Amino acid sequence: MTGRPSTGSTNVHRTSPQATPTTEPAAHPGGAGFDTDVLVVGAGPTGMLLAGDLAAAGVGVTLIERRPHERSNITRAFGVHARTLELLDARGLADELVRQGTPITGLRLFRRLSLDLSRLPSRFPFLLITPQYEVEKLLERRAVAAGVEFRYGTELTGLELSGSSVTAHTTDATGTRTTLRARYAVGADGVRSTVREAIGLPFPGVSVIRSIVLADVKLAEEPADLLTVNGVGDAFAFIAPFGDGWYRVMGWNRGRQVADDEPVGLDEVRDIARRALGTDFGMHDARWISRFHSDERQAPSYRKGRVFLAGDAAHVHSPAGGQGMNTGLQDAANLSWKLASVVLGRAPDPEVLLDSYESERHPVGAAVLRSSGAIVRLAMARTPLRRAARSLAAAFLSAVRPASAKAMGMISGIGISYDAPRGSHRLTGRRAPDLRLTEGRLYELLRGGEFVLVAPPGGEPDVPPVPGRVIRAHWTTDRRTALLVRPDGYIAWASGAGTPR
Ligand SMILES: Cc1cc2nc3c(=O)[nH]c(=O)nc-3n(C[C@H](O)[C@H](O)[C@H](O)COP(=O)(O)OP(=O)(O)OC[C@H]3O[C@@H](n4cnc5c(N)ncnc54)[C@H](O)[C@@H]3O)c2cc1C
Repeated sequence: MTGRPSTGSTNVHRTSPQATPTTEPAAHPGGAGFDTDVLVVGAGPTGMLLAGDLAAAGVGVTLIERRPHERSNITRAFGVHARTLELLDARGLADELVRQGTPITGLRLFRRLSLDLSRLPSRFPFLLITPQYEVEKLLERRAVAAGVEFRYGTELTGLELSGSSVTAHTTDATGTRTTLRARYAVGADGVRSTVREAIGLPFPGVSVIRSIVLADVKLAEEPADLLTVNGVGDAFAFIAPFGDGWYRVMGWNRGRQVADDEPVGLDEVRDIARRALGTDFGMHDARWISRFHSDERQAPSYRKGRVFLAGDAAHVHSPAGGQGMNTGLQDAANLSWKLASVVLGRAPDPEVLLDSYESERHPVGAAVLRSSGAIVRLAMARTPLRRAARSLAAAFLSAVRPASAKAMGMISGIGISYDAPRGSHRLTGRRAPDLRLTEGRLYELLRGGEFVLVAPPGGEPDVPPVPGRVIRAHWTTDRRTALLVRPDGYIAWASGAGTPR
């Protein structure tokens, strides 16, 4: 692996836009000697988005999941950020999810920090509150329709790597052991990833916060703000609505730091809410109460040979900022088109393209660890001096537009961009907004999983070769910039003047 910063952009890949693949695509899933092209381990949100994308591109995918095929109404993540909604839009899934959820346009943190998400330059200028299981349901439906072979109740127990294949050992619910040979494997198997362990990658980091209590409850009184977060003295708490009458409460009390398996009752949650928010809003009827701790960890590498890590298997951090599921889904969207290009024989330099997954996504994971860690440390501020600093930081972020725009860009994912090769146009590596084009909206055109070339009206610019097919589209106005947009909605190449709006 080179680890070289790259946008995975067209500057380094040398096939023509409509090029014939340089190697034969697999004639059937897996091809000769393989049971499948790509083995995905873990049917969480990361694994299902990735598997669905690969199968939609024509790659044979087997997805194994340890759990049986049943979903509960218990949810971990409950917030889908703007960038994730854009990526779901590029798969035709966002509108349905938005209809089911509750959009929140304003965040108020520590009483003084107000972030107005309605100013986000996106088709989705909000945080969508919706349970993780709704996101998973949509992704599973799409993956099934695209032809992913799901094997629920099947656990990965070991993995062997060679230069040309990956061999997985699995055990199903009846105890039957099976061996599966794939061209590539992706570990989307969560924090305690078996894949990560099997390929010998460590997961260094620290435990950042202990004894967080969580409850899904009904409230007798509705909070004034849709999303309520505050820290007072030694406690902080957070309340958000699911939109169906249920609320998620999370809280922490420095005075009660106990092990995860110490029982937690609603009285403890009420007590923390009263300390931090001044009221418990009459919470009752908890359907789920739990105590957990939160780690900040990141694998030093996201790839070893033919095996990749994505989602919580690659990085984990505190739930502050609601970033975990979102970052995992964005990892999957970055990796899927690259892996599909390589498996389908469209990438002339497969190693460079595959390495760009790590060089683009590892820094994003590290940044998320830093930002979610900063929010937690602010919330846990111990001394009066640190609490005063928290108030000041909150007031500064609220008052200074560029600072709050940067914070919103980071939290929502809208501000994420990738390093561009030296000498590239300044737009290279930036997120493409949902441009209105003669042929339709950009994110609708991206639904084919291909590159989109946006050209001036009547113009056919000479673009560099890309590892995939190119859909041609045109500005509706007399704009001179030409843009080549990658399947994951980032700009691979640009020429001419102007900024896309
Ligand atoms: C309390 C809480 C609140 C959160 N809130 C948010 C939020 O608001 N927003 C947000 O973005 N994120 C949030 N998160 C984080 C989010 O839930 C995770 O980041 C997300 O689930 C990660 O998805 P994943 O697909 O990478 O992994 P997972 O969802 O963990 O899925 C991994 C899958 O792999 C399977 N598996 C594991 N080992 C094996 C094996 N050996 N063989 C086969 N299958 C295996 C598991 O059964 C599991 O289904 C929260 C987390 C917590 C704990």
